[in-house]
Amino acid sequence: MSIKQILDNNEKWVADRKAADPEFFNRLADGQKPKYLFIGCSDSRVPASAITGTGPGEMFVHRNIANMVVHTDFNMLSVLQYAVEVLGVEDILVVGHYGCGGVAAAAANKQYGLIDNWLTNIRDVIRVHEREFLRIKNEDERLRRLVELNVIEQVRNLAKTNIIQNARKTSKPPRLHGLVYDIKEGLLRDLQLNDEIGDLDHIYGTEAMKYAEEVFEEQPGFNPQADKGKRVSESEVMAAGSKDKEHKPHLQKTS
Ligand SMILES: [Zn+2]
Repeated sequence: MSIKQILDNNEKWVADRKAADPEFFNRLADGQKPKYLFIGCSDSRVPASAITGTGPGEMFVHRNIANMVVHTDFNMLSVLQYAVEVLGVEDILVVGHYGCGGVAAAAANKQYGLIDNWLTNIRDVIRVHEREFLRIKNEDERLRRLVELNVIEQVRNLAKTNIIQNARKTSKPPRLHGLVYDIKEGLLRDLQLNDEIGDLDHIYGTEAMKYAEEVFEEQPGFNPQADKGKRVSESEVMAAGSKDKEHKPHLQKTS
């Protein structure tokens, strides 16, 4: 398709829209109040509006290779902050897709150049879920599961940002969702991550030290306030846990 064809398509689209709704563009020019933030892959087969049935003004969109939420990515963080704090989006969708080239490249154990630095973030997902990942013998199935695990970890990464941590202290924090799009079928699947995300405030929020005090309150000789920044050995954690049969593992919230 030539650029002329693209411009002709645009003119036809404007004419069709105006014919259906003469005020359509005037309304959009007044401002935006989208309810959704879509974080998806740059893959051309995963167009945010088309697969979600949303039109102009309904969805704020950020796309990158493999729908990543990387904490040093000022582009993503700026989009997230604006969407949450200014636009007040109600739902944030991290949308992965089966057949993702970025995810496949991360799992391929090859070097690709500059992009390897980006793919490292997906390799971190493999590291975290290595046992499950390596147990899947069929390569297609393994990559499909990695797409899902990547979405799960990117939703968790969202929950770790101070933008979401702060929003969770307000009366209407945005809901976080992980979805996977199947290019072959055109269907979106909700991974139902409510239980998977958990509550990460005790590690990434401002309550971390309070949580440490709860864990160690019965352990003589340990003062989290005085020992701020000191590394805690696994045996210390186990010793604290063994005193309380109700105590949950150290990466779970106590209440
Ligand atoms: Zn992709």
